[in-house]
Amino acid sequence: MVKTVSSNKILKLGIIGTGAIGQDHIKRCADFLSGVEVVAVSDMNKESAQHVIETYGLNAKAYESGKDLIQAKEVDAIIIASSGKTHAEYVLSGIQAGKFIFCEKPLATTIEECKAILEAEQRYGKRLVQVGFMRFYDRRYQELKNIVQSKKLGPILMAHAVHRNQKSPKDFTSEMVITDTLIHELDIFRWLLNEEFVSVTMISPRKTSKVEQQLQDPQLALLTTQSGIEIDVELFVNCQYGYDIRCEIVGEEGVASLPAPAAVPMCLGEKRYERIWANWQDWFLEAYNIEIQEFINECLVGELKGPDAWRGYMATYVAEFCLQSQKKGVEIAMPVSKCPDFYQYDCKSH
Ligand code: NAP
Repeated sequence: MVKTVSSNKILKLGIIGTGAIGQDHIKRCADFLSGVEVVAVSDMNKESAQHVIETYGLNAKAYESGKDLIQAKEVDAIIIASSGKTHAEYVLSGIQAGKFIFCEKPLATTIEECKAILEAEQRYGKRLVQVGFMRFYDRRYQELKNIVQSKKLGPILMAHAVHRNQKSPKDFTSEMVITDTLIHELDIFRWLLNEEFVSVTMISPRKTSKVEQQLQDPQLALLTTQSGIEIDVELFVNCQYGYDIRCEIVGEEGVASLPAPAAVPMCLGEKRYERIWANWQDWFLEAYNIEIQEFINECLVGELKGPDAWRGYMATYVAEFCLQSQKKGVEIAMPVSKCPDFYQYDCKSH
């Protein structure tokens, strides 16, 4: 359930990046969410920014650059939905301007950039950054987390996950399967199991004939946690049939599995048909709506509670070891990072 704002305050939002997810967030703010007005947009492609203003009937200004948008007096908070490589620069500018920032995943594409963000936020002395890990807001994942925490399954032994996309963009690379796709599992398993990863092995099975030369698809990630839980994640970004996310947690006493979104089954000619969703927008629609509404609500009261920069850093940190394993074709051990006191509340309560 999306919690609407009870006060009559309005958050003036600026959105950088008006591609797929930037437009999705603009649309949900314009049509559905409360307590928010999109007052500024910016994109590399200036025509796209202007087009979005017209399409969604926004009373907004199209800024020449993301940095100008961040500095604009009328902008209270920022959503960064431009390509991953641009995130660090914008997040750092946002912190310098003292504005609340919702940054789509990844927080940044290198560990060094993530560290710079952690340092800047700690220097500022207050949480300003949230990372777009929307699975945290998904009721099905929340129920899985409750089951794990309840200890009803007994000690957790293994987990199996699947992350399939119908088709990937033409310029998608083998590395992006880790930094853009697996990154969601890297974050959500830390949260579900409340443990850190200690090693990873990336495996390249037989390649599908449906992809360009530069892309190894599918891939498998094998992750081991501190207590020895083994997690396998199948990543198949050109599976053809639809968008499919699965997650099964196996304990000593039982198993808990993530359900697919409800669809009405149809029985016809001695067969049962069930719709499969085509994309992430539909699969996680409710989670995205809750995620952005809660970000709005929390900006209005001045305290962010969603996935923080530490979670963004940790996902990028583990992804870096996955990239090493992908390159070298061997298991890579990773040291456990110490969470700074500034983010400790997150490590314990999330
Ligand atoms: P997209 O459709 O390619 O949109 C990105 C937009 O940003 C494009 O219009 C691009 O313009 C623009 N852009 C590039 N560099 C820029 C810059 N320096 N300043 C301003 N705008 C710039 O990509 P997308 O699918 O929306 O993804 C955007 C981000 O969201 C990525 O980090 C992605 O990983 C993340 N994402 C998250 C989820 C999720 O589930 N949470 C889902 C989808 C995407 P050009 O096309 O001209 O380069």
